[in-house]
Amino acid sequence: MAQRRKIHPERVLTVISAFLFVLCIIYGAYLYIDMSDLLSFDDHAISERAFVELGYSEDEAKELALLDEELKSTIIQYPINSISYELALADGMNSEDYVHGQELYERFDHLTIRDVEAMLEKRGEEDPDNIFQNDRYYIASNQERYEALASTLNEENYISEEAYIRSVVELVNSEMDTIDYVDYVEADTSKDQTMLVNKHHVLDQNYVPDNLVEIDANYGRGELRSDILEDLYQMMDDCVNSKEDMSLFVTSPYRSYVTQENLYNNYVYSYGQQEADTFSARPGFSEHQSGLAVDIVAYEGQALGDFAYYEECEWLKSHASEYGFILRYPDGKEDVTGYQSEPWHYRYVGKEISTHYASLDITFDEYYAFYLS
Ligand SMILES: [Zn+2]
Repeated sequence: MAQRRKIHPERVLTVISAFLFVLCIIYGAYLYIDMSDLLSFDDHAISERAFVELGYSEDEAKELALLDEELKSTIIQYPINSISYELALADGMNSEDYVHGQELYERFDHLTIRDVEAMLEKRGEEDPDNIFQNDRYYIASNQERYEALASTLNEENYISEEAYIRSVVELVNSEMDTIDYVDYVEADTSKDQTMLVNKHHVLDQNYVPDNLVEIDANYGRGELRSDILEDLYQMMDDCVNSKEDMSLFVTSPYRSYVTQENLYNNYVYSYGQQEADTFSARPGFSEHQSGLAVDIVAYEGQALGDFAYYEECEWLKSHASEYGFILRYPDGKEDVTGYQSEPWHYRYVGKEISTHYASLDITFDEYYAFYLS
């Protein structure tokens, strides 16, 4: 009969201790390898993982992992999870701007790299006492004008301090603190498709776009810049084909200085100058002279004012930006654009700008001041 083995408690403890010791060594080695992987300067796969852990997608992490080590360590130190922003750093944005941009990114929602770059260019030094810097479209060089305009407005008339500040900044950025047709500069036609023409940016009397062509008679009447026709026709086709019985017609495209002069003078004759100025531009100040603007209605001969009651009008409002066009004089922005709402007036700016523009709630006048000038 086998003798029952005696259990020595000390021996059990020794075995358990030895086991735990070995486990610790293995885990320690694992941790060490893990850390050295993360810190490794040559192994892209490891750095990729570091970016994934910061919230980037696998593809984004792959792209970031290719950057040089100094950039990568800055990104890891200041993570904001915007791939385009990180790549701007790689593209030559200096680290000071990067960190400032990162602060802006955290402070204002939904910024793109275009936004951050425009802000870095326009904001100047941060000053916690400057209330106007609470607005994302703050432009440092307009500071004195913000203060001057603010002193003439009553904050109590606004629903919030934010709305009050927004209004001041918006009006000044759009030059509405200056006198229409008195305080103006030459329109910068070198901006081409993104030029600004309004009551403060004038086209020369002799300015005529050099690529004007006649519009296809199926789409409208008159002339436009040839470089915008393809997108215009596509937009009109897609609208018309979106539903039965839809139709569109370009009723007023390019207008020469002289045509605008006659048109405006007729309006002044009928309505008086003050009234005419709310819906018609003075010669040289009309976007139609740029060859980039169109008045669109549902059918030839339709009164502009009737277009708003048509489904085509709604369609354009929702889809024009997909084709490079923007609604230039929206409802509710009369005090910023200087014009009554014009649901029929579209302006071509190119698809890249129109798409970005559509994600914001500002007029093209302000967009130009902040992003394009
Ligand atoms: Zn128009």
